[in-house]
Amino acid sequence: MSTAEHDERQGRHKVVIVGGGFGGVQAAKALKGADVDVTIVDRTNHHLFQPLLYQVATGILSPGLIAPALRRVLKKQSNVRTLLAEVGDIDLEAKVVHAAAPDGQRIVLPYDTLVVAAGATHAYFGHPEWAEHAPGMKSIEDARLLRSRILGAYELAEVATTEEEKQAWMTFVVVGAGPTGVELAGQLAELAQYVLPREYRSIDTRSARIILLDAAPAVLPPFAKKLQNYTRKTLEKKGIEVRLNTMATGMDADSITVKGPNGEERITARTKVWAAGVQASPLGELLAKASGGEVDRAGRLTVDPDCSLPDRRDVFAIGDMVSTIDRLPGVAQVAMQQGTYVGKLIKARAKGDDTTPAPFKYFDKGSMATIGAREAVADVRGIKLTGWLGYFIWCYVHVMFLIGWGNRFGTLYNWLRSLRYARFRGHRLISVTASYDKAVDPEKPLGEKTDERAELDPRVSPGTPPAPERPAATG
Ligand SMILES: Cc1cc2nc3c(=O)[nH]c(=O)nc-3n(C[C@H](O)[C@H](O)[C@H](O)COP(=O)(O)OP(=O)(O)OC[C@H]3O[C@@H](n4cnc5c(N)ncnc54)[C@H](O)[C@@H]3O)c2cc1C
Repeated sequence: MSTAEHDERQGRHKVVIVGGGFGGVQAAKALKGADVDVTIVDRTNHHLFQPLLYQVATGILSPGLIAPALRRVLKKQSNVRTLLAEVGDIDLEAKVVHAAAPDGQRIVLPYDTLVVAAGATHAYFGHPEWAEHAPGMKSIEDARLLRSRILGAYELAEVATTEEEKQAWMTFVVVGAGPTGVELAGQLAELAQYVLPREYRSIDTRSARIILLDAAPAVLPPFAKKLQNYTRKTLEKKGIEVRLNTMATGMDADSITVKGPNGEERITARTKVWAAGVQASPLGELLAKASGGEVDRAGRLTVDPDCSLPDRRDVFAIGDMVSTIDRLPGVAQVAMQQGTYVGKLIKARAKGDDTTPAPFKYFDKGSMATIGAREAVADVRGIKLTGWLGYFIWCYVHVMFLIGWGNRFGTLYNWLRSLRYARFRGHRLISVTASYDKAVDPEKPLGEKTDERAELDPRVSPGTPPAPERPAATG
């Protein structure tokens, strides 16, 4: 490991932004034209539009449409430099950020002002071991893994030799009935009912069982009752089993155990998806320890009304990793508005305006979720829309928030093909090229990290012996 000490103590005011997600990018954009040098550092090279991840996981969109390169997003802003590196430590006293480049090179980034917008990840409510059996969706890699698991389940059902095996592969459980869980369950039903039926010969994909469960008494908990009821009814019409007041209590590769109003039940299901809890970036806790601040149960850092750390005017934290006095929801709009607010504040200070800023105020533009093709619920400033109308508003808002006209047109084109006309899913790539050699050579264990089969088959873990030879499956 080498140490790259960037001598950046000289020159203009230095702003370091950790995270190129919704909050970080908006902060950088708000600093356009400011007399400052901005470095935005992210451990991925892209700006991810998380609300459409479920469409990558179900083959509607290709990853590139929702994840443009961060460099490209900010290329026109000459005062911004983009770095691909993982931030591991922040020294508030020395005012430096410590990061590691992809080759392990250490990077030390001095700052005059720091903005941390590192987002959140999944929380498995004290069961981190469930992550292996029920992956969540936070990154492009997560969505690709889920796509392999979902489409792979049908491939494995097609070659299964018993009805029990087929059904085990064709049972899908989504844990968490918030917007992500509802949207994913809706698309799973679309795949099973409309997209796949004529493509398989040994299975009837329409017999797939899709279960959506949540410990809460309603789907879409933050939405109005009318929209919750509409959503539940629509999901059930699609054949989805909605189980409320029901929580996951155990899990393995073959099944999930749930506890609901009728007691405990083990459901045989090879494909499980986690769409439940969130845990703030560990950088929140790190900043709390360094500054004497606090984090809540989800690891969210408490910030002042101007999004700065208590008694630290030069350090801001925004987005999913923070909690504010008014307990704002962890949504993109909050992160974006906080990013713009903080960027403007830093810009004003760079101009010599040292007045105390007005506190950050969130402008709630509404919330929405799709339930399947051509159906959505939307609550836009008190106006509640369902069905086609809700879907139209949802499409408009989501396409306009994508970055770049190419991505917007590309997404619209894919939506027209996949949701309107042929229910075509053009982005379904999975492959198992590594499996055969390993299957015939007992010395080679299946399930090494690079093994594509491990991605497809949740039962394969490192060291798993090859599957026994079996007769060709018949219809
Ligand atoms: C599946 C899903 C669906 C969603 N749907 C909606 C929706 O429909 N509507 C809505 O409003 N919100 C939705 N959200 C929530 C929304 O995406 C988040 O609220 C928003 O992304 C938060 O922005 P952020 O800037 O705080 O974090 P993020 O956008 O997550 O950005 C954090 C960035 O920090 C980087 N990072 C993290 N740690 C480090 C590190 N140590 N070093 C370097 N870089 C780091 C990450 O790579 C990432 O790019 C959804 C979220 C998910 C996961």
